[in-house]
Amino acid sequence: MSWRLTDRLADKINHYSSFPATGVSLRQMVQFGQRPNPGTLFRGAQFLSEELPIRLAHRVKELNNLPDGLSEMPSIQKVRNWYAQSFEELTELPRPKIPQELRDLLIKAQRKNSNGERHGKMLMQNTENPSLAGEDYREITQKKSNLNSRRYFVLVDDDITWSPDIHQYNKMFTKCLSVIKRRHDPVVATIAQGINEYKHSRQRMQIDSTIQSFLDRFYMSRIGIRMLIGQHIAINEQPSTENYVGVICTKTNVRELAQEAIDNARFICQDYYGLFNAPKVQLVCKPDLHFMYVPGHLSHMLFETLKNSLRAVVETHGAEAEDFPPVKLIIAEGKEDITIKISDEGGGIPRSAIPLVWTYMYTTVETTPSLDPDFSKSDFKAPMAGFGYGLPLSRLYARYFGGDLKLISMEGYGTDVYLHLNRLSSTSEPLQ
Ligand code: ADP
Ligand code: MG
Repeated sequence: MSWRLTDRLADKINHYSSFPATGVSLRQMVQFGQRPNPGTLFRGAQFLSEELPIRLAHRVKELNNLPDGLSEMPSIQKVRNWYAQSFEELTELPRPKIPQELRDLLIKAQRKNSNGERHGKMLMQNTENPSLAGEDYREITQKKSNLNSRRYFVLVDDDITWSPDIHQYNKMFTKCLSVIKRRHDPVVATIAQGINEYKHSRQRMQIDSTIQSFLDRFYMSRIGIRMLIGQHIAINEQPSTENYVGVICTKTNVRELAQEAIDNARFICQDYYGLFNAPKVQLVCKPDLHFMYVPGHLSHMLFETLKNSLRAVVETHGAEAEDFPPVKLIIAEGKEDITIKISDEGGGIPRSAIPLVWTYMYTTVETTPSLDPDFSKSDFKAPMAGFGYGLPLSRLYARYFGGDLKLISMEGYGTDVYLHLNRLSSTSEPLQ
């Protein structure tokens, strides 16, 4: 490995980490990504070329300052370096040349600005089509322009689309994001490995609350970064179809996704326990229930909670049982939330263990499967159970778009998991 974190880069990271991250809501992402033209895509790239380094810089700083020597664990340092390297790649990317016509516009904008008017306002009057980007998006870019006074051309609407440079830049930027996304695929597994290294070196069984809240913050931030990157790559590479804007589906069919998750979870359960038939899952859901969401996130949460229920049912009643009480998956549609309840008769969880189920790496599986960061290239998906990441990560996915995940257990009988999903889609990402 030849890549090294230089002092110069560390200073730059430090500088960026002094700026707060800017949250984006699901609705803003959809408004922005609908029928994007090269100018819109360029503005998206400009926004990310500032927003991502800020978010990455926060993570590098935090990874460097973890309590009790955790930062010194080799796997934590490895992840820290990935973040720093991605930061470097994004901030060193050459910027497009600004054509003369645009340069004139910018000079005008600057003058206006010194009169106390904001860049954005002035330039909007100059554009043919001021409705191209959502209002909010403009706000964001304006706020960000304080960061570096050379970056105001993000505010120019369509005027830049005729620059051949913009296409080149958009392509190059998307390529850079793909490389970064792939680099960070094994982050969850590698951090988990780092926690293991820490537990061994300190002879600890459980992680304490500071490390738990670090992991919550860290993984939540990762969900956000990957959402922004994934969305940008998607709107650049695939034109939006009727129901899709990037990775967001404006009409996510809940019933279809639930059925798919049921099939997948039952299949894995059968395979794991060598069953002829996994416990049945009764699905109660209106067939046409749909809302705006990221199908990938919803599938993840359903799959994880269903696997837990199936496992609990099989282990309570014994793999050799004649038949099992069914798991019930009930989906309700409210004005504010779509709520999904997963009810099982899998014996429940003792009340004293409830706080533990939300901690990373807490599992009641005896032999943890090996932690190989390469075993899943796309993300951290445990086969049946055993990593103790299912519940805490699913809760982060739920909270990321303003929902929540709750668990109520009746020890000796079963567990109800409530997955609340906010359907107003206007809540902004949670940022610390
Ligand atoms: P894993 O499934 O890898 O163990 P999770 O975070 O999904 O990790 O769950 C953590 C633990 O919580 C499980 O090992 C299990 O002991 C308990 N648990 C989760 N869901 C249920 C459930 N529906 N019924 C009983 N116990 C459960
Ligand atoms: Mg699980």
